[in-house]
This record gives sequence, C-alpha cells and structure tokens, in this order.
Amino acid sequence: TGETYSHNFQAEVAKLLHLMVHSVYSDRDVFLRELISNAADALDKLRYEAIAKPELLAGAPDLAITITPDKAAKTLTVADNGIGMSEQELIDNLGTIAKSGTQAFMEQAKDDKDKGGIHLIGQFGVGFYSSFMVAHKVEVTSRKAGTDEAFAWSSDGTGTFTVASVKPEAAPLRGTSIVLHLKEDALEFLEDWKIEEVVRAYSDHIAHPIRLAAGTETTRQINAASAIWTRAKTDITPDQYKEFFGHITGAYSDPALTLHYKAEGRNEYTVLLFVPGEKPFDLYDPERRGRQKLYVRRVFITSDAELLPPYLRFVRGVIDSEDMPLNISREMLQHNPQVAAIRKAVTNKVLAELKKCFETEPEKAAKIWDAFGPVIKEGLYEDMERRDQLFEIARFNTTKREGVTLKDYIADLKANQTAIYYLTAEDAAKAKASPQLEGFRARGIEVLLLTDAVDSFWVRMALGFDGKPFKSVTQGAADLDLIPLVEEAPKSDADEGATATLIALIKQTLGDQVGDVRKSARLTDSPVCLVASDQGLDRTLEKLLARQGT
Ligand code: ADP
Ligand code: MG
Repeated sequence: TGETYSHNFQAEVAKLLHLMVHSVYSDRDVFLRELISNAADALDKLRYEAIAKPELLAGAPDLAITITPDKAAKTLTVADNGIGMSEQELIDNLGTIAKSGTQAFMEQAKDDKDKGGIHLIGQFGVGFYSSFMVAHKVEVTSRKAGTDEAFAWSSDGTGTFTVASVKPEAAPLRGTSIVLHLKEDALEFLEDWKIEEVVRAYSDHIAHPIRLAAGTETTRQINAASAIWTRAKTDITPDQYKEFFGHITGAYSDPALTLHYKAEGRNEYTVLLFVPGEKPFDLYDPERRGRQKLYVRRVFITSDAELLPPYLRFVRGVIDSEDMPLNISREMLQHNPQVAAIRKAVTNKVLAELKKCFETEPEKAAKIWDAFGPVIKEGLYEDMERRDQLFEIARFNTTKREGVTLKDYIADLKANQTAIYYLTAEDAAKAKASPQLEGFRARGIEVLLLTDAVDSFWVRMALGFDGKPFKSVTQGAADLDLIPLVEEAPKSDADEGATATLIALIKQTLGDQVGDVRKSARLTDSPVCLVASDQGLDRTLEKLLARQGT
C-alpha cells in the first residue's frame, strides 16, 4: 500500500478526453446526469447482489446519491453507497471504452462538436468522461462492497491517470465518491439552484434519492425518486417520459414511441418501453442484444434477460414483474417460463403498437421504418410465427410508390399477375436503372425495390403473402407473356431467323460462361440482360455470398 501507479488511457479515450477538455458544448451540464446515472446503476447493482448477500448492506442499508458542493475548495462531489469498484475495475472502467464502434463514434463526435451538439456522448456510454467538460481534475475514490480495500483514481484528463490505495480512515464505507475540481468557468455548478435545476431536468425520476448537502450538517432530497413506471400514465408528462428515456438510453432526444401499460392476470407486470427517435450506435453489433431492463418489484435484476427478440433490440425500457421470485439468478432467467410468457406477450404488444402507429401516423411511421426497418425485417426469417404480423408493418419502396405495404401492393395487381415481383439491389438508384424492369414497366406491373442487405435472406424464405409467392425479376422467364402490355409494343422488325442466328452466335462465343441464351419479352429498350435460372440464386445474393467468400 501507499504506492501510486500511473496508467495510460486507451488511445480512443485519450482522444475523447481531448474533445471533452477542449469542449465548447453549450449544454455541458449533462455531465451531472451522467454521473448520477452511473451512481444509480451502482445502487441497482448493489441491491441485486444484496438479495443473496444481505451482509453487503451492513452499516449503510439506506441507498442514496449525495451531491456536495464546496465553494471554498471549488469542488463538486457526487457520491453513492453502491456496488463500488475494485482496483482493476477502476483501471478498466475509467481508462478504456470496451464498446464496439468506438472509432465510428469518435468520428461522428468530432462532426457533432462542430455543430455544437452533445447528444452522442451519453448515447455511446462515455458518460464518465464528460466530467472533464467542467473539471480540470477528477478524483474517484471507491470501495467495492464487501471488501476492505479502497482505491483512488485521479486524472487531469490528459494522457494518463493514476491509481493508489487509500488509507482505511479516508475510505468510504462502501461505494464511490467522485470529486470534480471545477474549471473557473464552471463554478456555477457549486450553486444549489443550479444543481437542483439540472437534477430536476435530467434525473428527477431515477428510482433512488438524490440528496444535496447544504451547509455542513444538513442534506435534503432534491428529486422525486419515484420509479416512473409505477405511476399512473395520466400523471406523467411527455417531458417526464423524455427524462426517463434519457436515463435509460443516454439519448438527449425524444422517443419516437412510448408504450406504458400494466399487464394483469396470470402474470402481473408493468411495461414502460420506448422506440428511440434515432439509431443507436450498436444497432448492428454482431451480438444483437436487447437491453430492456428487468425489475422484480422495483429491484433491478438484469439487462440481459432478452425480454424481446433480437429484431426488436432497438426497443428500450423497463419491465417490472410483480410475481417473479426476487432471488432468481440471471442464469435461471433463460429457462424461466414466466420470462418466456412475458417475452411473448410484450413482443405481440410492441408489434401491435407499431402497427397502430404505422396506420395512423404516416410521418412517424416513415421515420421509425427508416431507422429500424432493416432490423425489424430480420424477424421475417427468424420469427416465422409472427411473419404475417411483421408483413403488416413492413414498408416498401417500389417502381411506382414509396412506403407501401404488401396489402397496398396486392391491391394494384395486374390482370393475370400471380406473383409479388421484386428486385434486389445495392441502392435505389441502381435498382431503378436495372434493365430487368423494362418488361414490367411496359406492363404497368409494380416491382418491390429491395435495397437492404437483409432483404436477400427473408425474401427467399418467406412463402409469400396473401397467397402470392415472391418472385425475383431476375429469375427465369417471369411469366410476363400472360400479362398484357399497357402500351402497344413497337413492332419488331427483326425476323425470327436472324434472331436465332444471333442467339447461336452468342452461345458459341460465351460457351460455359452462361447457362442459356434466350429471346425474352422482358426488355423493351435494352438489347440484353443477365438473369438467374429459376432454381438459381438471386443475383444480389449471389454477389453478397461471393463477397463473403462463401
Ligand atoms: P456506461 O455507464 O455507459 O457504462 P460510463 O463512462 O458512464 O459508461 O461508465 C463506465 C463504467 O464505469 C460503468 O459501466 C461502471 O462500470 C463504472 N462506473 C462509473 N461510475 C460508477 C459508480 N459510481 N459506481 C460504480 N461503477 C461506476
Ligand atoms: Mg454511464
């Protein structure tokens, strides 16, 4: 003990800190929300651990967050008596960013800074480092619950930080204390009114008490500290929902959709879920994890219970069960029938709510579909049971219209048209320019333009919709002959004999490189196009697989 060790920040963190230290963000008061949010998480974690080990609460059973301004020292301290951090956790948690997409985030944050916004920071979970927007030095003292040792982390936000052990008499009983040495231009955060204003704006409804130490002896609670989902819908304002949405997701924007209800009957639970207004960074993480929080009677259990299927991972919020056992281990959750029942019911409810929104609020629908449509479409091949429900939500761009449903498409079928035609392509411009479409245009047939990577997968597995199979315009002869032309085709002056000679010549020249060469009704302007055989892979899928070396 007594030794102080110096560590380098991970390169990304060093860059991020540089951004923070030199920040010109106008709304930098969000640092307080980030620290409070971390403190609340730490209290939640302790309360969960204490179910199995009540002795962890010894000495301080009352869980709270305390904010202490010290005008003489120009410091602001945010303390919690939560789970705390070990020496190694201090080094890992406050020296690195483990999340994927860090690089992409950094690039966007740079742009974002120029625009004067800051909403990316909390969203990406770099919350702690935002302290350096207001502090020229930050000291963190922490004692992990159930241990005797405490450690102090310290940094001025340049390339390095130090960690040293703390004498027992200087250590907190349990939990973490963060001392911010405020910059000269941030001294307003020492004022009671300012602290209260920020707490009320961003942290009023986190479920733990936040206390302001006023003077040396007295503290008073400055937040409502009620679990917002337990309150009646009619008592909650949109701003209060937004505040809680921010606490859950780190976002500073409005949720696109809020779903708040209580389920009664065999399983009793409360649901407060949000569809975000913007794409989160980790939407395409290979892990595809949802992070809905499971509570049991107001006690946080885990964010890993997979309460919704992966294709709804962007939906965030809380599900609080009244009747599950409190001491359920996280491992047991996977096979718990109550969790399975909740997952099933809530999934259906979310889809029903999306459908309702899509039918009544087209603008909002377009925004939600634009952000999350490609993810929802994963459900089309993963969740056979709900495929039809998903098809009712799914929106498509076609050769004729934007944002139509399959129902809309079916309503516009041409005489003798027996299939739903689609074209997969990398983007809309490429799709529209495809010569494959000519014969369809000439017959007034609408074609779905599928431009998301996921489309090539579901469209081959979906059996069809409303009795009509999906059929690629690039696959084989597309039964076009049966469907009348809208306009009379210009009379072909090529004679049959010459065409046959030309086809023979092409076949001879290309040899094994093609399966067949045929005369076709599908082209009107272009002389030739490549198509896959009826049994063959769709062209876009073929290219996709070739790229991946499969
Ligand atoms: P995030 O909260 O998104 O994980 P942060 O940068 O806010 O990112 O915090 C990084 C990590 O540091 C947290 O995940 C947590 O493990 C740890 N941490 C931060 N503050 C505290 C605290 N008050 N008590 C315990 N652990 C903390
Ligand atoms: Mg955080």
